Formats: sequence, C-alpha cells, structure tokens
Amino acid sequence: MTDRTADPFPMSELEARQREHVLYTWSAQKHARGLEIVGGRGASFQLADGRQVLDFESQTYNVNVGHGEARVGEAIARQAQQLAAASPKAVFEAKARLGEELARVTPGDLDRVFFTLGGSEAVENAVKIAKLLTGRQKVVARYRSYHGATMGALTLTSDPRRRPFEPGVPGLVRVMPPYRHRCLFCQGPPLGQCGDAPCNDACIDHIEEVVALEGPETIAAIVMESIGGANGVIVPPPDWWPRLRALCDRHGIMLVADEVLTGFGRTGKWFGIDHYGVVPDLMCLAKGLTSGYAPLGAVMIRHELAKRFDEQPLVAGLTAYAHPISCAAAVACLEIYEQDGLIDRAARVGAHLGARLERLRRHPWVSDVRGKGLLWAVELSDPATGQPLVPQNAPAPAGSPLKGLDETLLARGLYLPIKWNMAIFAPPLPVTEAECDRAVDLFEAALLEVLK
Ligand code: PLP
Repeated sequence: MTDRTADPFPMSELEARQREHVLYTWSAQKHARGLEIVGGRGASFQLADGRQVLDFESQTYNVNVGHGEARVGEAIARQAQQLAAASPKAVFEAKARLGEELARVTPGDLDRVFFTLGGSEAVENAVKIAKLLTGRQKVVARYRSYHGATMGALTLTSDPRRRPFEPGVPGLVRVMPPYRHRCLFCQGPPLGQCGDAPCNDACIDHIEEVVALEGPETIAAIVMESIGGANGVIVPPPDWWPRLRALCDRHGIMLVADEVLTGFGRTGKWFGIDHYGVVPDLMCLAKGLTSGYAPLGAVMIRHELAKRFDEQPLVAGLTAYAHPISCAAAVACLEIYEQDGLIDRAARVGAHLGARLERLRRHPWVSDVRGKGLLWAVELSDPATGQPLVPQNAPAPAGSPLKGLDETLLARGLYLPIKWNMAIFAPPLPVTEAECDRAVDLFEAALLEVLK
C-alpha cells in the first residue's frame, strides 16, 4: 500500500519506529505506508485497532489456506522443536514427504523437485535447469507478465518494474500475450470487442513464427504463467498450452509453467495448467505451497528430464534448500487443501464470485471481467474510447478517479489490489459466498462514487 495520506489510518508508534530502519518494497519510501496486522481468520485479517478487513489479495496472492490456520502453525512449531536447521543434504521426514506429495498432486510425470526460498528463485532455477538440459541460452517469455524480482526472473518479467534494470540477462525474446480483451491478432472484431467470437489462435501462430525466426535450436525454454496473474489475469485460449507443448516437443525446447501465483487451488484446480490438460517440462511453485506461513519455492521436473541429472551435475543450490520449517509448513498446507476440500471449494465459490463480477458489466466503464476459480480481474475503461481508465504500465495520474481507490476500499474494510485500470480479486480459498458478495458490493459502491 502506498500514498496513504487519508485520516482513517494515522501512523502508529510501531510503524513510525519500523520505518526508521526497515525499507518498504517497490516504493519511494516517503509516502509508503504499511498495515499493522495482528492476526486473522479465514478470508479476513485484523488490524491493531481491532478493525477486520476482507483480504481479497490473500496478502500477496499467497495465503491460500486462509489466515490464522492453527494446523500450519502447529506443524511449524513441532518441526522447530525437532529439527530447525539442516544442511541442503539433510534427510528428514518433512522433506521426503513433501517430495512425495508434490509428485502426487502435480500433473503427469513431474515427479522430482528442486527447492528454493520463493517464486523468483524458482523461476531463476527453472531457467538454469532448462539451460543445463538443452545447452541453449535463449528464453521466450511474454508481455504482461510477472516472474519475480531477481535479475533473471525480472528479465523475463514485462511489467515496468524491470525497466531500471534493463537489459537484464542476455538472450530474452518477448512475445505478445493471449490478451483477448485487447487482442492484436483477432482480425474480425474491432479492438477490445472480440466478445464471444472464437479465438482464431493467431496469438499462438505468432509465437511459432517468433520461434522459427529466432532459430528453435537456440531456445532453451518458453516460460509463461499458466494463467497470467498480477498483470491482469490473462486467461489463454483453449489451444494455447497444447500448441506450445507441441511446439516445444518439435524443437526440444523446455516448456516452463510458472504456477507461483496460480498454483494450489487459486484457479479452482490444483494448478492453472490443469485447465489445459498439458504437462510442462518444468513447473515453478511458491506462494500457496506454504500459504505464506514460511518461505519456500520449488521447481518440479519431469521424470525423464530429471534422470539426466543422474550423470550430468545439477549445478544449482542454496543454503536454505528445503528448509525444515518451510517443508513442514508445506506438508501441513497440502493436507489442509485436501482435508478441507479447498480446491473444489475454490472452483465452486469462484464461480459464484465470477457470476457476481460479471454483473458489473452493466456499468459502462467495466470493459471486461475475466478469470477462473478465485482469481478474477475487472478492467475499467473509458466508455467513449474503450481506452484503459489508467494507462497500463503507468501509475494513476493525479486527478484520476482510480487514484486512492484501494485506500478508500481499505477504509471500508476491503483489501483489494488495484493495478493500473484493473481490480484483481484473489481471496483466500476458505472465503464464503457471502464474503464475495460483500467484497463486490463494496467495490461497486466505491466505483459508483468515484466514476459517477
Ligand atoms: N512468478 C509469479 C507468477 C509471481 O506472481 C511471483 C510473485 O508475485 C513470482 C514469480 C515471484 O515470487 P516471489 O515474490 O516469491 O519471489
């Protein structure tokens, strides 16, 4: 949260103390503000002053099992008492069990895992592994994507946060996303009005053409979010992943699905790519893996590919590889997803949330509503021109009706990410239909005020 100058949140003594020494991420420090969160339950968190807030960002799209989940806390405490620190080579129950469970829930023959501390490092190591497996250096990624903040992952990322660090790691080739709402490829309907016309798959032809022109034998990996997340919930057409799979098969390119945000039930299936029936060569995991209760990321590798590292050295590693506390947290989260039926629940309650959001299309400035499971975006555009109400890849300009909208919503009890001209709805998986209704009502009422 930034630029919070409104009265509802006077700076507490604790925040003043903390900001003296601790930097805020992604912000100019002067106006950056934080929230003093003291606890939570399910889809809500509690502020130090007692206010309850509906968390429709799941903190950082990661608290999938929900707030205040004692079963994860207890698993962490047990592990901390038994074995809190261990070298990457250590053998212990939570590590072995987590490997087994991940092999079981991830698709196809993805059955070997390399652990990291978070999503950026998962992407970073997936790219390293793809380069080791192919001996090639180029990577294809897409616009309107986020893959992390470390140098390699940031190079793959296309949102503006990459710009101060360009050109980044050499060898990156960027392609256009399957962004149906403003598709450059659908030849028939005017820009932004594809409506329900079937996709002509020209967005996939484009990638095939780029790969052919680059020289497929130079490309190590194609890295894509299975369903785009924080850059606007980009849901690819049905053929997208199967055709990328076939393209990679033809040319020995590693297909990498970034499931850091979309994994562990977020889209109503275990993984976003499960909607497409495709098995990638490598899959990046983090966030919902531990639901944010401890830092952990992972790269899943297909059986036959991982076997190559029986002979070839796997030149990758980290001091906190498979940290015991993080492994214990992840095992507990996986149990909760299954015991509480959270993946099916995300599909069911997500369908309700989606239907409620679809009704917002009656307002002229709602130009698109898209999503799956508990991951939805509402896009706001000028009804006269169809252009985004806030230019994409830019901050809301002074005087924009969307400036400060997140702060207004927060003051009314809803924590909702507003990114450029989009609101993204991504609550914890235990969210109820009534909580979804409340969030949509609060959002709609605030919009009617600022856009009247
Ligand atoms: N990949 C995707 C799709 C993400 O959404 C994120 C974070 O938001 C990352 C990678 C980076 O993960 P982390 O912030 O844990 O390094």
